[in-house]
Amino acid sequence: MKAEMAEQVSSFPAKYGRVPHLVVILVGDDLGSQTYVRNKAKACDVVGIKNTTIRMPAETPQAALLAKIAELNADPEVDGILVQLPLPRQISEPKVIEAIAQEKDVDGFHPLNTAAMWQKRPNSSYTIPCTPKGIIKLLDEAKVPIEGKKAVVIGRSQIVGLPVSKLLLDRNATVTICHSRTKDLAEITRQADILVVAIGRPKFVTGDMVKEGVAVIDVGMDKDPDTGKLCGDVDFASVEPKASAITPVPGGVGPMTIACLMENTIERFLVKMGAE
Ligand code: NAP
Repeated sequence: MKAEMAEQVSSFPAKYGRVPHLVVILVGDDLGSQTYVRNKAKACDVVGIKNTTIRMPAETPQAALLAKIAELNADPEVDGILVQLPLPRQISEPKVIEAIAQEKDVDGFHPLNTAAMWQKRPNSSYTIPCTPKGIIKLLDEAKVPIEGKKAVVIGRSQIVGLPVSKLLLDRNATVTICHSRTKDLAEITRQADILVVAIGRPKFVTGDMVKEGVAVIDVGMDKDPDTGKLCGDVDFASVEPKASAITPVPGGVGPMTIACLMENTIERFLVKMGAE
């Protein structure tokens, strides 16, 4: 995807006079967030997207962050704005998400983008969140059939579980959404042709919870309690032998999410340039 996008972006200066510009705002010094922001900047460099990282101290007042967002909203040379979450306590995340102009919200978290997705508006009018979008791309790339299949999603967060459930439904899967109060979870997961796990519990889904031939998408980014290393929500060792396809952690949904962020930035740029 990155190579294809790099080729596409290399044609933009001749066509549009410039390349897309993504601005990432990082408030505070959370270690995980710093890594994510660095990886996003690296991906921009590979694809040829101009990127600016604005670093603000952890004690930044909400008004100062909102003022910075207003400035970027008004800047015609900025195509995408992403505020890295989580934010320090004194700042309201919903307020910040709503402050970003809908057409520059490359994360797809703005309520108008969420509403457009649930109403199934034409694609060019809104942004689909990066992780759910990437999950569908991974399934398509691995040629996993979706239509008519039983898809089980564990997790109902606004950023992964809920939107990926809607995208699977749009592709005509029969979708079951599970969460922390779900009874007999393993009974339900054993029926899944497609299993998406986004809960934040290391190695939670084990081989006895899935059927032969299942396609598994592991969204989790957890710390392995035994090794201290990064691991997923799925116990890869026991699930992989039964799966027809499975994403690893690290190396699966994470990099795909970043590739989709690049794609969302290019899409917003092209809409602005009237290319669609
Ligand atoms: P979240 O907002 O914390 O939501 C977790 C969801 O899992 C909730 O709906 C919760 O149910 C459910 N859950 C928790 N424990 C459960 C259990 N024992 N059984 C069944 N359901 C359970 O999490 P998130 O933001 O969606 O993130 C989930 C994981 O994905 C995390 O590890 C996160 O780091 C990772 N992530 C990765 C990427 C990426 O790019 N790779 C992107 C986003 C997130 P309730 O609603 O009932 O509380």
